Amino acid sequence: MTNSFLTRDGSRWMPDYLTAIDGAICIGCGRCFKVCSREVMHLYGIDDTGEILGVCDGEDDDFDGQLNRMIMVIDHPGRCIGCGACARVCPKNCQTHAAADTVAT
Ligand code: SF4
Ligand code: SF4
Repeated sequence: MTNSFLTRDGSRWMPDYLTAIDGAICIGCGRCFKVCSREVMHLYGIDDTGEILGVCDGEDDDFDGQLNRMIMVIDHPGRCIGCGACARVCPKNCQTHAAADTVAT
């Protein structure tokens, strides 16, 4: 843990890392993915039971007819720089963020 993050002008800056997305609320709109510069999360397909089928990468995004809907999944949490952009565009408020000085690295 640290509290020594600084902006370019030397002001203190506390990153707010994305730590969770509630898949029951997420509508898979993709807005957070579009604003994220770090490829922290991707769209995944889930079936009728909520089981994750796999990443939607354009190959077989219907998952042989098993697809129920898509949700955003944090598959690379360690890439997050805590900019908070994803939180600002989410229409469902289904993300959880945590201040860098509370998150174990
Ligand atoms: S806080 Fe910033 S870097 Fe982290 S997931 Fe959200 S948009 Fe990406
Ligand atoms: S912006 Fe919110 S609702 Fe849309 S995909 Fe991201 S987490 Fe889900």
